[in-house]
Amino acid sequence: MIGVGDMVLLEPLNEDSFINNLKKRFDHNEVYTYIGSVVISINPYRSLPIYTPEKVEEYRNRNFYELSPHIFALSDEAYRSLRDQDKDQCILITGESGAGKTEASKLVMSYVAAVCGKGAEVNQVKEQLLQSNPVLEAFGNAKTVRNDNSSRFGKYMDIEFDFKGDPLGGVISNYLLEKSRVVKQPRGERNFHIFYQILSGASEDFLCKLKLEQDFSRYNYLGLDSAKVNGVDDAANFRTVRNAMQIVGFMDHETQSVFEVVAAVLKLGNIEFKPESRVNGLDESKIKDKNELKEICELTGIDQSVLERAFSFRTVEAKQEKVSTTLNVAQAQTKVRKKVMGVLDIYGFEIFEDNSFEQFIINYCNEKLQQIFIELTLKEEQEEYIREGIEWTHIEYFNNAIICDLIENNQTGILAMLDEECLRPGTVTDDTFLEKLNQVCATHQHFESRMSKCSRFLNDTSLPHSCFRIQHYAGKVMYQVEGFVDKNNDLLYRDLSQAMWKANHSLIKALFPEGNPAKINLKRPPTAGSQFKASVATLMKNLQTKNPNYIRCIKPNDKKAAHIFNDALVCHQIRYLGLLENVRVRRAGYAFRQAYEPCLERYKMLCKQTWPHWRGPARAGVEVLFNELEIPEEEFSFGRSKIFIRNPRTLFKLEDLRKQR
Ligand code: ATP
Ligand code: MG
Repeated sequence: MIGVGDMVLLEPLNEDSFINNLKKRFDHNEVYTYIGSVVISINPYRSLPIYTPEKVEEYRNRNFYELSPHIFALSDEAYRSLRDQDKDQCILITGESGAGKTEASKLVMSYVAAVCGKGAEVNQVKEQLLQSNPVLEAFGNAKTVRNDNSSRFGKYMDIEFDFKGDPLGGVISNYLLEKSRVVKQPRGERNFHIFYQILSGASEDFLCKLKLEQDFSRYNYLGLDSAKVNGVDDAANFRTVRNAMQIVGFMDHETQSVFEVVAAVLKLGNIEFKPESRVNGLDESKIKDKNELKEICELTGIDQSVLERAFSFRTVEAKQEKVSTTLNVAQAQTKVRKKVMGVLDIYGFEIFEDNSFEQFIINYCNEKLQQIFIELTLKEEQEEYIREGIEWTHIEYFNNAIICDLIENNQTGILAMLDEECLRPGTVTDDTFLEKLNQVCATHQHFESRMSKCSRFLNDTSLPHSCFRIQHYAGKVMYQVEGFVDKNNDLLYRDLSQAMWKANHSLIKALFPEGNPAKINLKRPPTAGSQFKASVATLMKNLQTKNPNYIRCIKPNDKKAAHIFNDALVCHQIRYLGLLENVRVRRAGYAFRQAYEPCLERYKMLCKQTWPHWRGPARAGVEVLFNELEIPEEEFSFGRSKIFIRNPRTLFKLEDLRKQR
């Protein structure tokens, strides 16, 4: 073993020793390290030969601590606990952008696919589950300055299993796609992969059908300075995506419609307007070049005059509403309860130079995930000891509930105030929103702005007047308020949604149900912020019903490079992820615990007095059992309803003894 595989056993324990241990292991290609059952994963930024079928076999059906730390060990443990103990699982993968969350989620999925079920039908389900990834990534990932394949949406996938542990299908939920990227990308970043893939990979014939040209520079939406990404073969990826769409279950005509929409979006970006003189006192604008418009209408079956009217009455940025859709590959609808393994891969914490509504939402989501980590590992652990009457030394950790409250409180939270502004009659601007924040949040410890009367930050020139700053658990982030109101409103002018709904194109029609004049909804649709808040709340509730498994991803450097381990950067991450506190809590505590009854059931065969029948309370039985096996006293504690075992090795010993019988 290189270094220490489980930080719980690290001696002495401090920040330096923690980082050195990670570094030593990283230098020897050991990218996984445990904190008890939590897996720390450091992005190697190169392919290591540690995910082969041989490795899968090695980890299959083995106890968690038996082999060197690996994401497969966690996957195996979660899968077996689901299959054999009927416990629903969730895999929570966190870490900042580029830390390796999406790769980790794919490794978990491919491991589980490799070890569960057999047979043609099951294999088809597995293929569909795995192939959902390239499809979602093509439409939802993009190159950013942080990550060449950055997820611009959150993803939660429930993999469903039958009672035998064979996969039945999956349900994928998507969270807030960063759709503003379609029309505008920060410098050095790209639009969603699919646009480049289609131009690079589609045959001439197909491009011609879609009225597209291969040349990226023809399209305003394709962020020219960074259109090619090193090491990325857009053309090959296009073939992968088409193939994956087929496996997932898109019919040919559906795939065709999807690409027609993609083509139409690209072409919409080329439409330019020129101002027209005032007619009857109305501002009007005209489309410069009608050819592009004509082709869009041919592709989408929208009547040209309808679209032109919709565009010309108000000059608005042409934005496509939604590319993402909930993809449901669930196959069998059985009546029996399904076992579920949820895999959560959500955009990582982001600090850019310019942070807008999207970063605000992304970072809020990360606060919630940190909160659930605290709830489930730190707080819950301490509370369980207290409940069970086990001796316990309290460990200090930062609880970020206060930051979650700053954002989501129903009355005084930032999201609530943004909604209030958006719904208020009268002139609403990003500035009136900021004023409101300044009134309500000025005294909050984690809120900073220069404009509020009682501001502690009046002289902080690094904080422009048009910004506010939040001290997140993972660092300070300055948000530029420009665009918050619009993005939260997320409204498309009715003329436009009606024009889209009239399209002679079933996919486009389906994407704009609000354009149906018969269904004009007088009630305003919920804002983007409140929708997101509600879906995050549902997600958190769902996660809390499952047994959590944690993968904490760490980014070793800012260069997307192999072999570089930047101590300061890693230090920052382990601090805000609270990993040292995590070790301390684990150390002060016990690695394993189990209720008395199942414990006695499992091990009673090892002891003459308890085998085959023990008459009396289960707790007394376990006492007799541990006594006879001469397990050292400091190794365990008797709680009110559970036995607590300090070191995993004790558990191995018990397991080994069972095997020998
Ligand atoms: P974001 O929040 O931006 O979506 P992320 O945490 O999902 O970021 P990934 O896309 O998983 O990050 O990883 C970024 C890149 O790092 C990958 O494209 C890949 O090149 C490399 N990488 C990540 N994990 C591994 C791994 N286990 N082995 C080899 N390379 C990896
Ligand atoms: Mg990702």
